[in-house]
Amino acid sequence: MSDCVFCKIIAGQIPATRVHEDEHTLAFMDIGQVNPGHVLVTVKKHADNLYALDDVQAAAVARTSARLARAIRDSLKPEGLSVYQANGKAAGQTVFHYHVHLVPRHEADGMELTWPVKNPPREKLEDCAGKIRAKMG
Ligand code: AMP
Ligand code: ZN
Repeated sequence: MSDCVFCKIIAGQIPATRVHEDEHTLAFMDIGQVNPGHVLVTVKKHADNLYALDDVQAAAVARTSARLARAIRDSLKPEGLSVYQANGKAAGQTVFHYHVHLVPRHEADGMELTWPVKNPPREKLEDCAGKIRAKMG
């Protein structure tokens, strides 16, 4: 995609601080650095979001993310690590080329995600799960 900033990074057309790459993925430092060591894992072949990944890309991102998580843990020794991934504007996505955030975490570091639990009755869970299950291949 010619107007995609992450495609331009992958193609080497604009600068980025690269951390790791393999056949299907590229990881580079997020320019915003919520905490030191904040890395983005992207797919080399453009996909807008999680919905658009093929199985090979999905597996490759999971593998790279797990390997990088251990490298971040062992090198920077954060107290924790958050994995964040947004799909669509309503979910907070701002760059529409699929990517996973790996964010090293520390107590009271200011990164917050509100999590408004609803605790619905079991029938609601069963109803919702049934709808999803019906769409699984
Ligand atoms: P999201 O809101 O999940 O789509 O995240 C997009 C992320 O891309 C943000 O955290 C930005 O800081 C990061 N970002 C945008 N442009 C660049 C760039 N040129 N190099 C590195 N990170 C970038
Ligand atoms: Zn792209």
